[in-house]
Amino acid sequence: MTHQAAKLVFWGVRGSTPTLERDTWRYGGNTPCLELTTGNGTRFILDCGTGLRMLGNRWTKNQSSSGGNGIDAHLLVTHYHWDHIQGLPFFQPFFDAQNSFHFYSFQSKYLGADSLKKVLEAQLASPYFPVDVGMMSAARTFREVTSGEKWEVAGTQITAAWLNHPQGCLGYRLDTPGGSVVYATDNEPGVAECDQNLRQLAQGADVLIYDAQYSTEQLATTRKGWGHSSWLEGVKVAREAKVRNLVLFHHDPESSDKVVDGFLSAARLEFPSSWAATEGMSISLSERGVDVALRESRVGQRRRLRFTATVSGQSEDGKAFEEKATVRDLSLQGAYLCLQHRPRLQSEVKVVIEAAGEKNSSSVLSLRGTVVHFDPGREKSQHGVGVVFSEEIDPGIPRD
Ligand SMILES: [Zn+2]
Ligand SMILES: [Zn+2]
Repeated sequence: MTHQAAKLVFWGVRGSTPTLERDTWRYGGNTPCLELTTGNGTRFILDCGTGLRMLGNRWTKNQSSSGGNGIDAHLLVTHYHWDHIQGLPFFQPFFDAQNSFHFYSFQSKYLGADSLKKVLEAQLASPYFPVDVGMMSAARTFREVTSGEKWEVAGTQITAAWLNHPQGCLGYRLDTPGGSVVYATDNEPGVAECDQNLRQLAQGADVLIYDAQYSTEQLATTRKGWGHSSWLEGVKVAREAKVRNLVLFHHDPESSDKVVDGFLSAARLEFPSSWAATEGMSISLSERGVDVALRESRVGQRRRLRFTATVSGQSEDGKAFEEKATVRDLSLQGAYLCLQHRPRLQSEVKVVIEAAGEKNSSSVLSLRGTVVHFDPGREKSQHGVGVVFSEEIDPGIPRD
């Protein structure tokens, strides 16, 4: 039996608090929110951080363009820290009576019965928000779940398990007909029961999304006890539980894109199928396996042109390559290249552009960048590759 692919989209990947600093733009600054749509169209939302606002706007827009049928979705909330609930008041579909939502979370000992319902009402209470929860006209149901619980929603099996985090946090596994996704964020290793829960939850998963907020040094020293983890712990879990893909998630607000790049390349040396969660990243899961894509993220004005550049990098199979490629458009931020090789998404490339007829180093522009986009290309047997430049490098040609 063939199933349609399930699709996972990242709307928020930042931990703790949103970031607006320029050097965090490439991975993104919104706090945790993921959208999972299964092959039969069932919609899940994993956490309700600030990324939820953009997801809501997208759904509302699609809803009005498709004739306006009601939206029905299931929201799984891991815990009640701000970064996982802050998007709730700004989710447009809550304010439409034809929509209905099913919430799942645990009973907090600080809040008692109906914990999530109370959280939602408190967020919209005076003096914290201009309108009260009565304005949310969509139907809402709340279900309390706990560690070890399994339930089914329209052909998808869901399992919850405790992770180690201050005031508690649930990890979720969703087994869809297209593949399995494990969402395990906000977890600190070192508590035997939770370490075991995590490995059990992640066993053989197609995609494991894991808390990689800190460097290994921070986790061992200054950030011990803060409830988070590192890329290296993610690699260990991924190996032990034999997962197929590891996605580093919940980036620290103080981590620039460069810092996250460093975590990812370190993780890839140990576990090649690693990715760093990026706003707009999507993963489709089907019997054919897992396919990762990034949204085109260059925002600078682009100049269309056509000239050659020497491009070196790493191809999908991990081998180094160098070739003369065609630059098809260019901005101060990045370029679109046509290449024979297929470089890996999120890997580093070097682009050397030489001005025609000039041989001295002042006319050579040598740039380091990251592969942020991939498409089949505009020409036969070529790949279209979007690159964002990170820095200019010394071309290594002696001046005369
Ligand atoms: Zn968090
Ligand atoms: Zn937390």
